[in-house]
Amino acid sequence: MQIIRTRSEMHSFSALHAGKIGFVPTMGYLHAGHISLVERARAEQSVVVVSIFVNPAQFNDPKDLEKYPVDLDRDFAMLEKAGVDAVFCPARSEVYPNGVPALRMSYDEVMNRLCGAGRPGHFEGVLLVVHNLFMWVRPQRAYFGLKDYQQYLLIKRMATDLELGVEAVGCPLVREADGLAMSSRNVRLTAAGRVAALAISKALFAAAELWRKGETAAAVQAALNSLLTPLQVEYALICDADSLATVLPGAPRPARVVIAVAAFVDGVRLIDNVLLT
Ligand code: AMP
Repeated sequence: MQIIRTRSEMHSFSALHAGKIGFVPTMGYLHAGHISLVERARAEQSVVVVSIFVNPAQFNDPKDLEKYPVDLDRDFAMLEKAGVDAVFCPARSEVYPNGVPALRMSYDEVMNRLCGAGRPGHFEGVLLVVHNLFMWVRPQRAYFGLKDYQQYLLIKRMATDLELGVEAVGCPLVREADGLAMSSRNVRLTAAGRVAALAISKALFAAAELWRKGETAAAVQAALNSLLTPLQVEYALICDADSLATVLPGAPRPARVVIAVAAFVDGVRLIDNVLLT
């Protein structure tokens, strides 16, 4: 497995493997959710590149950035075992040689809903770095987890609208055996917080079940709110899966919905969702 630290090395690698690259962008501290993306990439493309870069441009809270877990040796061992061909892990000065540029791409409505409402500037920072990573890695396909459903939607749109020549592929959310959505942030939970965090997936599964049974948006929303009462909730919403607009009481049921939650446990911000299509 090749470890690539500069953009120029990355360019040479991608020129050598043009048309064959499957790409998995990450912020590291990897878990089975990330590895599931690597496996999908390996199944579909002959060369797999994973990037590890904790992108300062997408953190609106400097403390959150500081506390983001890092363990590159552990990540490299996991990626080697998963059969990855190259890991691109550039320093911040390599990604942003002139500091984070002021360029901002935006998609008004879809961007400002859910996580965009509580984390101003977050998705602008995500699109900036993913766009540039696509330019350096030059993949055919790039793989994203549906855990970050809103992020996936925005990147897919950007890739289409800017004709980046990359197909963004959405992959299933991977959970722990008890239902908690896997996240690099879970390591920051206390033992009690780890138990409390289970309320998120439990509330989502219960809400999904009610929605499938044909309950109204108002009834599903009420159940969701009551199951999440013990937590500090940022949002818990039933949304149209394409526009991310909230499904209002009495409005027609959209064909595809996503029920999405962001909540704080032990001061750690966790997100989760269920997609109902
Ligand atoms: P991150 O390192 O958190 O930025 O995530 C990198 C990629 O892994 C993103 O496409 C995430 O959506 C995806 N990912 C993170 N957690 C999971 C999970 N539990 N299941 C599936 N994909 C995930």
